[in-house]
Amino acid sequence: MLQRRLLHTAKACLNKPLAPFTSTKYPKLKRNPCYSKITDKDVEHLRTFLTSSDLIYEKDPESTAIAHLNTDWFNLYRGSSSLCVFPKTTKQVSQILEYCHERQIAVVPQGGNTGVSGGAVPVFDEVIINLSKMDKIRHFDPISGVAIVDCGVVLEQLDQFLEPKGYTVPLDLGAKGSCQLGGNVSTNAGGLRLMRYGSLHGNVLGLEVVLPDGTVLDNISTLRKDNTGYDLKQLFIGAEGTLGIITGVSLLTPKRPKAVNVALIALESFEAIQKAFVLAKDHLTEILSAFEFWDQDSVGVVKSQLMQKSKYPLEGKHAFYALIETQGSKREHDETKLLEYIQLLMEKDIALDGVMAQSSDQIKTLWAWREKIPEAISKSGVALTYDVSMDVPLLYKLVKDTKEYFSKKDMLGPGKVYSNLIGFGHVGDGNLHIMANLNKTDSDGLKLMDEFIFSWAMKNKGSITAEHGIGVAKVQYMHRARSATQLQLMRTIKRAIDPKGIMNPYKVLPE
Ligand SMILES: Cc1cc2nc3c(=O)[nH]c(=O)nc-3n(C[C@H](O)[C@H](O)[C@H](O)COP(=O)(O)OP(=O)(O)OC[C@H]3O[C@@H](n4cnc5c(N)ncnc54)[C@H](O)[C@@H]3O)c2cc1C
Repeated sequence: MLQRRLLHTAKACLNKPLAPFTSTKYPKLKRNPCYSKITDKDVEHLRTFLTSSDLIYEKDPESTAIAHLNTDWFNLYRGSSSLCVFPKTTKQVSQILEYCHERQIAVVPQGGNTGVSGGAVPVFDEVIINLSKMDKIRHFDPISGVAIVDCGVVLEQLDQFLEPKGYTVPLDLGAKGSCQLGGNVSTNAGGLRLMRYGSLHGNVLGLEVVLPDGTVLDNISTLRKDNTGYDLKQLFIGAEGTLGIITGVSLLTPKRPKAVNVALIALESFEAIQKAFVLAKDHLTEILSAFEFWDQDSVGVVKSQLMQKSKYPLEGKHAFYALIETQGSKREHDETKLLEYIQLLMEKDIALDGVMAQSSDQIKTLWAWREKIPEAISKSGVALTYDVSMDVPLLYKLVKDTKEYFSKKDMLGPGKVYSNLIGFGHVGDGNLHIMANLNKTDSDGLKLMDEFIFSWAMKNKGSITAEHGIGVAKVQYMHRARSATQLQLMRTIKRAIDPKGIMNPYKVLPE
């Protein structure tokens, strides 16, 4: 099943012209000559403990066997590695890193390769360590709800495993069919239910990590409370593979809710969305599990690219839509509460229309209109993705200001930099996604849009990345997003753990 998914990604990628090399996109990035280049002798050594199917070595990085492993899901970043290894055990990961450390060969860990910041693919010739063959669920404790899994377990697979046991994963995102637990933890992924279950910094109880020199750090605790010294696992959550390879994850999983209800509402302004959000917190209190929004242009993209034959659940065209989900234990109670909520929204003239799902199929359909947005816009052209966070009242102002800015004449004229620009996101977490199809003929489009959006977010005390991470995409903004003291401390930590700098170089920390 997993292999099929990966092959599908590969094919999807190879049907399109491949992204330009990342090093062409960011010409200031230069290959660090301190790293050794891979030789036939290195590969011979790796073959002493990896089987031939656990290693791809292609001297031509354009060859189909390795090109997709060098290219990210959104087809925006591309490296030129000639070697990808697929370890099956923690011991093999340790042997690979020990060898690369000794030879000072740079590596890039790769999970499901659905990351959005170019972190999971090489920039130059770093060895790709693909973790998809580490896919065992090691242990599940039905009393505490703690699951211990290999890093390569796919998020959706874990949820399917937990379902008959009455548990669920505390994380859900559109890429759940491909992304892996190790990748989720390494990006500190947020997703659709963060407002309910909190972040992975709270739900991950322990990690097994292979450090850059091959040492295995066994920190796979199942304890919820443990104050014995520094909480080392936190360093690796969101480190984007720059400090070591996460090989095992101990995750606290919550009980699966007995009743799930979903409503979709139409609204005419972002002010109305905020009112609806406050009312949802007031009226739905403990059962509110997600509050997502998107704009009319998002609907247009999903309809034209992925759901041509589906009828939109609400009549007419409205500026905004919000999806509200409840999770609780009493179906009748929760249904009544959600229905009352929709009625209140209508009475107060906050929402213009609304619909509540009547079956699990209808729940899936309502969610599909939200979850398919990133995939749809990626299908309609080269897509840029932003994931800024800020105070909720400001969220959609950024979308409006971006459109206004890029419609000015000196910005090459309307439609020159991008051809679609949509706004959607997680209102509950103050997290906006802006996505746009980049005009391919305009090579400066990416830089212009990055500069405008990141500067706007920083000026308004927001974050340039709420959940996707820095990767290679935002590394040049770290100087502005973090103080000199913060950067210095991050570098001290990096040097202490990875003195030879072999782990995922050129990412997260600027030179
Ligand atoms: C359609 C779609 C929807 C998405 N929705 C969301 C969303 O709602 N919220 C969200 O947060 N993200 C979202 N994402 C982004 C992405 O899915 C997440 O970042 C996800 O957590 C990445 O997991 P992965 O296994 O694909 O990691 P990869 O992309 O393979 O890797 C991501 C980073 O982690 C590192 N890494 C991977 N595995 C390991 C490991 N075992 N040890 C150490 N480092 C490792 C890589 O080097 C890289 O830096 C979405 C992506 C897509 C395509």
